[in-house]
Amino acid sequence: MRLSQMLFVTLRDDPADAEIPSHKLLLRAGYIRRIGSGIYAYLPFMWRVLQKVSQIVREEMNATGAQECLLPQLQPADLWKESGRWDTYTKAEGIMFSLIDRRDQQLGLGPTHEEVITTIARDMIRSYRQLPLHLYQLQTKFRDEIRPRFGLMRGREFIMKDGYSFHVDEESLKKTYQDMYQAYSNMLRRAGLAFRPVEADSGAIGGSGSTEFMVLAEAGEDEVLYTEDGKYAANVEKAVSLPADAETSAFISYEKRETPGTDTIETLCQFLKCSPTQVVKNVLYQTVYDNGLTVLVLVSIRGDQEVNEVKLQNELTRLAANYGAKAVIALNVPSSETQQTWVAKSLPLGYIAPDISDEYIAANKQVHAKFVRLVDKTAVDLKNFVTGANETGYHVVGANWNEHFKLPESVVDLRKSRPGDRALHNPEQTLSSARGIEVGHIFQLGTKYSQAMGATYTNEQGEEKPLVMGCYGVGVSRLAQAAVEQSYDKDGIIWPVAIAPYHAIVTIPNINDAQQVQIAEKLYTELNQAGIETLLDDRDERAGVKFKDADLIGIPYRIVTGRAIANGKVEVVERATRQSQEIAIDEVITTLKQWITAAIEVKN
Ligand code: ATP
Ligand code: MG
Repeated sequence: MRLSQMLFVTLRDDPADAEIPSHKLLLRAGYIRRIGSGIYAYLPFMWRVLQKVSQIVREEMNATGAQECLLPQLQPADLWKESGRWDTYTKAEGIMFSLIDRRDQQLGLGPTHEEVITTIARDMIRSYRQLPLHLYQLQTKFRDEIRPRFGLMRGREFIMKDGYSFHVDEESLKKTYQDMYQAYSNMLRRAGLAFRPVEADSGAIGGSGSTEFMVLAEAGEDEVLYTEDGKYAANVEKAVSLPADAETSAFISYEKRETPGTDTIETLCQFLKCSPTQVVKNVLYQTVYDNGLTVLVLVSIRGDQEVNEVKLQNELTRLAANYGAKAVIALNVPSSETQQTWVAKSLPLGYIAPDISDEYIAANKQVHAKFVRLVDKTAVDLKNFVTGANETGYHVVGANWNEHFKLPESVVDLRKSRPGDRALHNPEQTLSSARGIEVGHIFQLGTKYSQAMGATYTNEQGEEKPLVMGCYGVGVSRLAQAAVEQSYDKDGIIWPVAIAPYHAIVTIPNINDAQQVQIAEKLYTELNQAGIETLLDDRDERAGVKFKDADLIGIPYRIVTGRAIANGKVEVVERATRQSQEIAIDEVITTLKQWITAAIEVKN
């Protein structure tokens, strides 16, 4: 392609609305254009990158035996009502765009396709002989994200590869899951990305496992905890570890103490001259279930630890059935104004004990009459601990479970792991932290959707069984931008060769020099004929402007028909290393072919 004939507009300055380098660079280099909040046009360069990423994804998926299809983006609400997700997706979370057609039918724009694929499986899969089966598609997804940002990283319209597999049992599912783990690793390696597979939260769905593929970059929205020995890596939402040991308490007898102005762990520990590891703190949450019921939750946890709200939400989802509900739609720490609307007398905030009486809330019709009491493992092991006295300005010291406070029945892991914690698999290893961009997620779904929607098959014994399912997603457009986030310098993008929009750019420093033009034209034609995707910068611009643009758009190899042509040579510059060398004109094609093949093959 000739730049003179392209829509080629680059910006010298950073666009005001872009925060992270990859977003700035893709805008400046003319890859994308913002049309609305979280809505972007993929301009020709970007589209080529996306097609290259898509091609790698296809090749790796097809190699596992999965088959490509294309499912509708317009999805009837009825399907989502069958799975029970319509209300959470359109109202509670509100992630799904919904609309009403001229026949007054409700529809949603597909944020994901479990419902659509499950209805197909329900209709078409009858027998174990048809299994396992894996279908995937590459498609634009719609999600009304709360905070669309960072360009293609979190769009409201974005490209995803999503695949769904069907199995007779967990064992067969696990095999496909392993194949996907390998396929995803291959995809990312081939696209030239540094990544880390991490254990991920499977949320309320449960299932026996899920892995996220994280591209390591400072701008990542996720935190990953890992050990140097490479044996453990998890999203912080899911991570488990051993906390630091608690210090031995000096309070050997049980007493109530006046502790004025100590409603935080810090002030309390200063006042009592004790360690936060000797304190049981009691954190109050409110949760709202999908049937509208508000339930108050008291989490007792060691004073130096924080609650992991993802773990807490999972536990509350497990308890949903006790409250006639299926899902949690909100979880937060109530504000003091909110609390005053529930409680008969005001709660001694900052001084609450694990046994705070249900009487505080019993009279109120807006909230469930009893607290849910959960205790984290870190608090269970404490002896002679300090905790609230249920009276403002007072704490108790030297307390013990089942002597002074009944140990709540639900002992759960609710603590947030942190860097520096010891690893479970080897306490000599400690957790380190890194930022990651989630580009892929593979998931063992089990029978959640097949059961809800009645998708069954007949097994060898003639019995009807629910289909066992897996699902696997790659954010194609997010991945493409993540590649830039990992690879740029002060002058612009440095594309990995495998996904660069073009391999090479032939730059004519002076288009009024007939010889420069003639050699450039010839190289341009022959390179393209040889399968090296090449641009020609034939614009009537100063050489400096052209070099700057070539650096900005990040094409791996630049060929300059400048002074060296007098000696039958051209200058070839590698974008990534900036190494420049003069190469005989008739050796350019073979040399570049070798470099490009090598650059792509290293990753294969
Ligand atoms: P996130 O936690 O980042 O919102 P998710 O858990 O909602 O992601 P999935 O539903 O697992 O994501 O979707 C599969 C993949 O699609 C993700 O791994 C990610 O790469 C991509 N993706 C999800 N949401 C977006 C978005 N708003 N914009 C671009 N890509 C996205
Ligand atoms: Mg999301």
